This record gives sequence, structure tokens and C-alpha cells, in this order.
Amino acid sequence: MRKSFDEETVRETTVKEILTKEIEELVAERKICFANLRVKPYEDSSANSIFHQRKINELNKLNRKIEEHQQAINRIDNNTYGFCENCDRPISLKRLEVQITASLCASCARDLTKSREKAASWGKFPQRVGQFA
Ligand SMILES: [Zn+2]
Repeated sequence: MRKSFDEETVRETTVKEILTKEIEELVAERKICFANLRVKPYEDSSANSIFHQRKINELNKLNRKIEEHQQAINRIDNNTYGFCENCDRPISLKRLEVQITASLCASCARDLTKSREKAASWGKFPQRVGQFA
């Protein structure tokens, strides 16, 4: 059963608010991480470079997460949030509860993981789901 427009609006506003709040937290985390790139906590320079490499990995991960959140907000604005980018079928609420930025349904996400694994063994990377299926 389709929910009324008002209920739908409330639900999407809430999701957008959660995403916006999470972006703020991720940006704050990124700021701390970035500041850590300037400090040298160890005497040993190789220990410092390991520390900095970890911070760079963290920064990349945070940037990726922020990007995923922004894309989810774009999908809300385009009325495509909650629908699979690959097969257009609705993404289950349970999946969205676990991963609010999910852009693929469980089945397509599984296929993508499988083709990535297959592609990794060939040293290639698929751009689209099903490319290596
Ligand atoms: Zn799908």
C-alpha cells in the first residue's frame, strides 16, 4: 500500500536530516584526521610515516563516505532514493535501515560483489553490474 504524500514527505525529511547530520559528523572527523597529518607523534620518522599513511587511508574512507551521503541526498532530491540504481526495483526498508546510503538492492549488490571478486581475479574492475556476469 502506498503511503500518503504527507507520510512520505515526513519519512524523506527524516532520512535527509539523518544524512545531513552524519555528513556534519564525518566532516568534523575529517577535520581532526586532517589536523593529525601535521603532527609527528613519534621520534622515529618511519613510525610517523606509518601513522600518516593510516591517517591518509582514514581520510580517503571518510571522503568516500561523505560522497556516498551526498549522493543519497541527491537521490532524495531527484525522487530516486530507495530505488535500486541498477534494476529500478525498490530497496528493502530493512536494507536501508542498515545502510542508509544504499543505492543498490540486496540482489544487485550481491551481483556486484561477485563480479568485483571475479574481476579482481582477472585484474580488472567492472563499471556496471552484470558486466562480467
Ligand atoms: Zn537491483
